[in-house]
Amino acid sequence: MQQSKVVQLPLTPPEHKVLVTQPYVPSLDKYMHYVEKAFDAKWLTNDGPLLKELTDRLKDYLGVKYLLLVSNGTAALQLAYKIKNLSGKNVISTPFTFPATTTALEWQNANVILSDIDRNSWNLDPHAIEQRLTKSDISAIVPVNIFGMPCDMEAFDKLGKAHNIPIIYDSAQSMLAKYNGKSVLQYGDIHCMSFHATKLFHTVEGGALTFNNKEDYERAQRLINFGIGENGVVEEPGINAKMSELHAAMGLCILDDLPMLIENREESVALYSNKLADVITFQKSKNDIYTPPMYMPIKFESEDALLSTLTQLDQHGYTSRRYFYPKNHEFLQRKTPPLLPVSDTISNKILCLPLMHNLDKEHIYKITNIVKRSM
Ligand SMILES: *Cc1c(COP(=O)(O)O)cnc(C)c1O
Repeated sequence: MQQSKVVQLPLTPPEHKVLVTQPYVPSLDKYMHYVEKAFDAKWLTNDGPLLKELTDRLKDYLGVKYLLLVSNGTAALQLAYKIKNLSGKNVISTPFTFPATTTALEWQNANVILSDIDRNSWNLDPHAIEQRLTKSDISAIVPVNIFGMPCDMEAFDKLGKAHNIPIIYDSAQSMLAKYNGKSVLQYGDIHCMSFHATKLFHTVEGGALTFNNKEDYERAQRLINFGIGENGVVEEPGINAKMSELHAAMGLCILDDLPMLIENREESVALYSNKLADVITFQKSKNDIYTPPMYMPIKFESEDALLSTLTQLDQHGYTSRRYFYPKNHEFLQRKTPPLLPVSDTISNKILCLPLMHNLDKEHIYKITNIVKRSM
């Protein structure tokens, strides 16, 4: 196994640093307006009015029928894997993702089979999976729309139908993404979303599932509430994965501001892209897609170039972050590490630049100049 390189970073006073991201915080007045409702009603959790309001507004906004708010994105993944009965089964997923995608599968006692990614979109490559599916021992596929960019969703839908297996999306970063002009949530069987504070839309901690199937939705409703069914009887062992009213209140504030947040970050992404167009490779798709402005990932020619840029940025007070590094499969305990040549090279070369609400344009000029200089 290749040794991860350790960089000695010089110390920059933390108060002067521009972080790689920062949560969007709405006005306290607006938050209090919603929280007051919860205080007045003395209803703090358990299917309260704010949770219902957020659920209805999100369903409308996203154009989905079955949406369930939960305590966080990882719980959403665990629930989806539970609902599709993946314990003891083989499940194909991507090595290039946040650890939770696959550690939640292992937590659910599934056997994770990592398959390689596409060299342009950095998403799970459906063609690499086709061959493996002929063995008929795969029970689900878990693609991720990484950095919010939709993967080859139609190809995965076809594979799912041909082999009669569910496609469960880790859509933690792609709630607002579009594929062929439609919401990505229209594809596949289940989508799992994260509303963590660092995400574009957030509820501090939180998440959601969307389903294309009513039975799955109803089972999930029970499972997040200890397995208790409508008549108060425990129908199967569940957990507690409910979202509280205070978290829903934050979601309502952010939903009010969301169009403005998207526009603001799109301007930053456009400026970055424009300034770096000549020197950098960006994530690309051959499909008709919309990627929400969640991250600003750039790909270097070599790991050395990445490390020197990261150090330069740090010395000028800018935090950048390697995604996803250390490589995911290094902590999935495997006797024989899988052969993932594309993912292995790409995860050594991706760096995310600062992106957050109201990031000063001056910073983007400085950051892009540093990146260019250190190439
Ligand atoms: C954020 C994220 C998660 C985890 O979500 P939490 O709400 O933090 O539990 C899972 N997968 C991906 C791809 C993510 O970006």
